[in-house]
Amino acid sequence: MRTSQYLLSTMKETPAEAVLASHRLMLRAGMIRQISSGVYTWLPTGMRVLSKAMKIVREEIDRSGALEILMPGVQPAELWKESGRYSKYGPELCRFKDRKENEYVLGPTHEEVVTAIARAEIKSARQLPLNLYQIQTKFRDEVRPRFGVMRSREFIMFDGYSFDTDKAGLDVAYKKMYDAYVRIFDRMGFNYRAVDADTGSIGGYLSNEFQVLAESGEDLIAYSDGSDYAANIEKAECLAPELKREAPGAAYSEVATLGCHTVDEACAKVGVPVKKMLKSLVVHGPKKEDGECELVMICLCGNQELNEVKALKILGTDEVEFATDEEIAKFTGAHPGSLGPVGFKGRILVDRDAACMSNFSCGADKDGFHLINVNWDRDVPKYEVFDLRNVEEGDPSPDGKGRLHLRRGIEVGHIFMLGTKYSESMHATVTDENGKDVPMVMGCYGIGVTRCVAAAVEQCHDEHGIIWPQALAPFTVAIVSINGDKSELVRAEAEKLYQALEEKGVDVLYDDRKERPGFKFADMELIGIPHIVTVGEKSLKDGKIEYKLRKTGVKEAFDKDSALEEILKRIAQNA
Ligand code: ATP
Ligand code: MG
Repeated sequence: MRTSQYLLSTMKETPAEAVLASHRLMLRAGMIRQISSGVYTWLPTGMRVLSKAMKIVREEIDRSGALEILMPGVQPAELWKESGRYSKYGPELCRFKDRKENEYVLGPTHEEVVTAIARAEIKSARQLPLNLYQIQTKFRDEVRPRFGVMRSREFIMFDGYSFDTDKAGLDVAYKKMYDAYVRIFDRMGFNYRAVDADTGSIGGYLSNEFQVLAESGEDLIAYSDGSDYAANIEKAECLAPELKREAPGAAYSEVATLGCHTVDEACAKVGVPVKKMLKSLVVHGPKKEDGECELVMICLCGNQELNEVKALKILGTDEVEFATDEEIAKFTGAHPGSLGPVGFKGRILVDRDAACMSNFSCGADKDGFHLINVNWDRDVPKYEVFDLRNVEEGDPSPDGKGRLHLRRGIEVGHIFMLGTKYSESMHATVTDENGKDVPMVMGCYGIGVTRCVAAAVEQCHDEHGIIWPQALAPFTVAIVSINGDKSELVRAEAEKLYQALEEKGVDVLYDDRKERPGFKFADMELIGIPHIVTVGEKSLKDGKIEYKLRKTGVKEAFDKDSALEEILKRIAQNA
């Protein structure tokens, strides 16, 4: 490709709306353009990278034995009603009607459609195992689309679905996908971890997320320094501490804390450290028969964080909903900031660490007051103890080996054992060897292909631009000619090298523009081409062609007659 015939679309300015390096660089490198909130066009340079990412995914998934199909983006609401998700899926699901008033959704994922296909096409257990996949556009009306294509509303996902007769079959399918993911993310050059993930309310089954390690990641993952344990913080268990409490001291008493708006202010006023202050949160329990929710109090040490995923499993609700100030005032007589378990009329859930506290402080359930010297059992006779907090740096690893550390991650892929959730609700059964109809056992597998591209940029860039892993680079080699418009010698040599590389099947971008050399270099570095070759009169007179490896900045001079060979060697070394 010649730049003179290409749409480079690079920009010098830093786009103000982009906070993340990958977002900024993908805009500046002319890879993507936003057309409406969270909806993007992929320009030629971006498309070249995206195609390479899709090719890697397709090759490795094909190798695993899965079969490619293409399902529609527009899905009948009817299927979502069958699975029960039409009402459960929140406002992320884009619903609409056609001219005949038929209801549809824009697919945010394809379990319903693929289950309908399996139900129609697969009759006998002899047709299994089967894994059907696609690489296709999804739409999710995200609350906060941001970071460019990292969290967009429209994005491209690889999604695969496996069908088996039993759990043993699913185990095999899951392992095959796990291994394919490892091959995919290795080829993409990621520094990543496969972590245990939460399986939601289905329970009992396995789920793994593949997280690219990056400071800017939205997820927190915990990993052990003494074993290969790694889990999403949503899932990571806090081991029960040894229940050793100091003996209760004097009876509890009130302290006025009027005007204290934060935990720190209340602690200062009461004269206790934050870890001696109880944090009391009030949330909605399950709906009662009259449609009202019972109110439940959750208690944690003042310096620890609630883990909502753990809490909702205990509550038995779909999400953790915090009670409103009015609801709390009506129930307790106080407002948030002055809440505590002493005298609380509802269910009280206490974190394992908070349950070890004694002679602690908490809100008095009376505005403007806190209590000191409070003790479980003596002052709060009825409460239940659970693992309710997020793990913290230095906590013991749940497998008993080593300590936990926290890192940020970008979730690029997810594999999940679904079991029979969809095949039961949508009646996708096969006849087994005993002639009995059994629901198929399913797994689902997703990779955010567009997010992978952003994650690669997030992981590999410097102040000059993107540093592509070779497997994803839009072009493998850049040829920059210096004053090619003036020098016939330069033009002829650059042209010769360009043709030779093209013939070898190398993706090469020949920058033949009539621009200053510095301007052209800046563009080639910005778009992150791994191998940059310079053809200039000065070096040519010594019979040389200059070469630079983008990744290390190391420069070399090749004899012009062996340049092709040397470049091909460098490409092979960096594969
Ligand atoms: P997240 O927690 O990041 O919202 P998710 O759990 O909703 O992700 P899945 O439903 O498992 O994601 O989708 C499979 C993959 O699709 C994810 O691992 C991620 O790489 C990608 N993905 C999900 N949502 C988006 C989005 N809004 N923009 C880009 N990629 C996405
Ligand atoms: Mg999501």
